[in-house]
Amino acid sequence: MMKYVLVSGGVVSGLGKGVLASSIGVVLKSCGLRVTAIKIDPYLNTDAGTMSPFEHGEVFVLDDGGEVDLDLGNYERFLDVKLTRDNNITTGKIYQSVIDKERRGDYLGKTVQVVPHITDAIQEWIERVAMIPVDGEKGPADVCVIELGGTIGDIESMPFVEALRQLSNRVGSGNFCLVHVSLVPVVSAVGEQKTKPTQHSVQELRGFGLVPNILACRSFKPLEGNVKEKLSQFCHIPANNILTIYDVSNIWHIPLLLRDQKAHEAILKGLNLIGDAKKPALEQWAARAERCDEFSSPVRIAMVGKYTGLSDAYLSVLKALLHASVECSRKLVVEWIAATDLEDATARKAPDAYEAAWNVLKNVDGILVPGGFGDRGVQGKILAAKYARENQVPYLGICLGMQIAVVEFARSILGLQDANSTEFDPDTKCPCVIFMPEGSKTHLGGTMRLGSRRTYFQVADCITAKLYKNARYVDERHRHRYEVNPDMIDKLECAGLSFVGKDESGKRMEIIELPSHPFFVGVQFHPEFKSRPGKPSAVFLGLIRAATGELFTHAQLPTQINNMAAKSSLSNGMQAKIKAFMNGSAKSSLKTSLFSNANGIRT
Ligand code: GLN
Repeated sequence: MMKYVLVSGGVVSGLGKGVLASSIGVVLKSCGLRVTAIKIDPYLNTDAGTMSPFEHGEVFVLDDGGEVDLDLGNYERFLDVKLTRDNNITTGKIYQSVIDKERRGDYLGKTVQVVPHITDAIQEWIERVAMIPVDGEKGPADVCVIELGGTIGDIESMPFVEALRQLSNRVGSGNFCLVHVSLVPVVSAVGEQKTKPTQHSVQELRGFGLVPNILACRSFKPLEGNVKEKLSQFCHIPANNILTIYDVSNIWHIPLLLRDQKAHEAILKGLNLIGDAKKPALEQWAARAERCDEFSSPVRIAMVGKYTGLSDAYLSVLKALLHASVECSRKLVVEWIAATDLEDATARKAPDAYEAAWNVLKNVDGILVPGGFGDRGVQGKILAAKYARENQVPYLGICLGMQIAVVEFARSILGLQDANSTEFDPDTKCPCVIFMPEGSKTHLGGTMRLGSRRTYFQVADCITAKLYKNARYVDERHRHRYEVNPDMIDKLECAGLSFVGKDESGKRMEIIELPSHPFFVGVQFHPEFKSRPGKPSAVFLGLIRAATGELFTHAQLPTQINNMAAKSSLSNGMQAKIKAFMNGSAKSSLKTSLFSNANGIRT
């Protein structure tokens, strides 16, 4: 029998239910249980794929190509599991499945209604998906954590609340544990913690027939003893089951807060699992959470993006940078740069913003251009890539960040001023990045090249192959409609850009490197989605190591250099110069003559 932990939210949204649900999973996993997770998003969109990151945070991509809510990223990172698209339930998906059934005639002439048809479909979906193993082991998990998005009382979540009430009733009290997350604000200058919003929220929950076992109270500071007592009395929940989830220095402390307050015991009791679980073993987790607070030596990375006002828009990229920085014992400092601020137009309209942006860019240890869609800020991103390339600053371009690096290289080194992506200029005379056959121009949802695809290394000794521990290939997640134009590859390679990773057909470019540069890497995939605490993504680790001066050098990569020179159709003299450059001699003169000069090599 599957055991369920439901995490609901009250009072306001944005309380960090996702992190709490993930942390509950971590503590249960540390007790020796196998855990899976489901996120319910009561919006009508089929999935997060068509939603703006500015409104809703990043779109997280799964191995199976599911474009899902960013909370699934939290579950994957915290629990180190691989979820499926069906682990994210939306109103859109549920209604679509019911309407499809109705059209097939499966309801045999009945009137199709929210209760029972939608509520049944929700329960069937949950029970089916809970059984899918996500941790690489055989057979279903022991516990499924379900997070109900939104706030109790929202009109759009009502069918889910009713379905969950029915589910809790059907599976019985020993198999269902409800954790309600609420807010305890401090209103007056006296600093008194207020319980009323939580009381109302619990009342509302009970009104819908859902009985909370545990109350998780979000607050700035730990709950006062009398506040706990009050909540216990008014909400009819034992004081031991009232958790105080106060602000902590980093989110890895949340599972530790839960453990310290014996949340696992309350949950295990609610699920009749006390005898089956061991004491939580979170030593490694705790060591990482504490270490993370101690680093003082910074590594400064510029994030040159579009949505710099909302860090959730690049959540997985930030987490991947953090995982890599922790591995290198550095304090991560992210410098946000709005790509448009680097553009010439800003120099005219807002010179202060322009100057400030360039000032920041020129003082970082590494530059990252993340994925993106649409042409806003593209020129600024191109300028950032150019700056990194010309000034030997470590650069990581992800998806769009790789595509614009190729465009920049074609413009500056091949002298092709019209080089562009057809995403931004469909009629460009020099299409360096083109629309892929797999994409659709008429339908946006789920029509990209999505999910896990394999990249084969073309040269064994390139930086990325080394970072991936000399693997022959890697599987990473994708989300794109455009790709580097295969017809341009020869020209680009002759000019010194290496395409070191390609797909199985050899026609789709996956990884670029600039062998003349300490670390200039672009990847068509999104390595951030598979980074985990304690298991940082290889390319992010490369960026941070390069930014801190700890990456192995090109001198340790003889084969690639030789390959590059051999492949190149450059003159013998130029090949000799490249070799000399790689070996450290003639460094500055060659740098300017070969790689910085827009007129250097023309086709
Ligand atoms: N817009 C580009 C494409 O569709 C890049 C996508 C991305 O960065 N995820 O190919």
